[in-house]
Amino acid sequence: MSTEDSTPFYKSDHCSLFTDHCSLFTDHCSLFTDHDPWAMLRGYEPLSLCDWPGKVTAVLFFGGCNLRCPTCHNARLAWEPQSLPPLDAGEVLKKIDQDKTWLDGLVITGGEPTILPELEQVLNRLKSFNLPLKLDTNGLRPDVVKLVLEKDLARVIAVDVKGPWDKYPQLTGNKVSSQKAQECLEAIFDMAIKYPHCFMFRCTKVPDLTEDDLQIVRSYLPQGFSLKEQAYIEPNI
Ligand code: SF4
Repeated sequence: MSTEDSTPFYKSDHCSLFTDHCSLFTDHCSLFTDHDPWAMLRGYEPLSLCDWPGKVTAVLFFGGCNLRCPTCHNARLAWEPQSLPPLDAGEVLKKIDQDKTWLDGLVITGGEPTILPELEQVLNRLKSFNLPLKLDTNGLRPDVVKLVLEKDLARVIAVDVKGPWDKYPQLTGNKVSSQKAQECLEAIFDMAIKYPHCFMFRCTKVPDLTEDDLQIVRSYLPQGFSLKEQAYIEPNI
């Protein structure tokens, strides 16, 4: 998801529930034919100090993404998750159970975890460890985010805002129009007003973004929210 998230332990060389997404996000649907979300678990970082500010977390990386950002730092995980070996989800869950006494929380990231089938099932299973959950997303599935909030499935939703609306096509590999991005992210911002303690917003300062662009992104956020800028790390493809 982000460029500064920790590297999953699959040692890559670089480091969904609803029907209305398929018109926007057709090319990933074939990844999920068996509807087993755990089959898309392709990375696990048992100890991270940087994926949830102030917390010691473990991070689960799910493959697949609805975007094709040319600057993606996890491109293989996002676009070719089948090329990475699946993890034994049972072993990962066992490890979380062993470590839960000293972990502060769990981070669910990708790729784009909101495109997972049965995301609800995954979050409910992880919630059973009685650890708070943080879900990373690009914000383009506001319907999924809404459900996660309404069902209290995550403590925090971290949303990557890619840039000004007019740059979304170029920043996402033409996977989303400016209009659609605005519509989705504004739905997210409305939720943030309603659930102010549940959101954080980030933007990775990729080469195509200027300081003025970042200022525009800041102006989108609801009152009281700040934008966490993330340094861009060149993809190692
Ligand atoms: S949203 Fe963009 S940067 Fe994030 S995983 Fe998908 S393609 Fe990569």
